[in-house]
Amino acid sequence: MAEKLNLMANESIVLKDVGVAHEGSIYTNELILTNLNIILINKGMLGKTKSVDRFPLNQIKILDGKPQVLQGKKSNGSATLDIVFVRGVESFSFQSQSNISKWIKAITNTLGYEVDESRVNDDSGTLIGAFKSIKSGVMDAIGIKQKEKIEEKITKKCISCSAPLVGVAGQVVKCKYCDTSQTL
Ligand SMILES: [Zn+2]
Repeated sequence: MAEKLNLMANESIVLKDVGVAHEGSIYTNELILTNLNIILINKGMLGKTKSVDRFPLNQIKILDGKPQVLQGKKSNGSATLDIVFVRGVESFSFQSQSNISKWIKAITNTLGYEVDESRVNDDSGTLIGAFKSIKSGVMDAIGIKQKEKIEEKITKKCISCSAPLVGVAGQVVKCKYCDTSQTL
């Protein structure tokens, strides 16, 4: 299995679970969190790998300093792990629903954020994903800021969506999440 993952040299596994469903599939998939990606191994009934999908962590939307990794709910009431990527929401279901909060925490922490436990509302199943305090240098690990250390860069929040923006003061940048142009 490991050889099929083709992990990058700087990529390591953080969390792994079986019994995961995605996009209406049955619970035969494997979900892997690395420091760079969420990897879905799509397996058939007989356990044969049909496809491997990668969802880069640096594509997860950050709103108001909170990675958009949430617990959602299907129409039948069962809980889902909903992750808002720049391209859209990916929804994962777990055979063991109690795994969802573990995944929210692991993804959030891997992104360099913390889940604000005091604000987690497990009962409604909709509000998990309250976060606090951005750790500095968080995006380094996932490759968002690769050149920043060369010049003196500053970090600001997008005026429109509060996503972190990085650049030189006075520079006009375009928010990669909401496309708003603004001066740092
Ligand atoms: Zn924005």
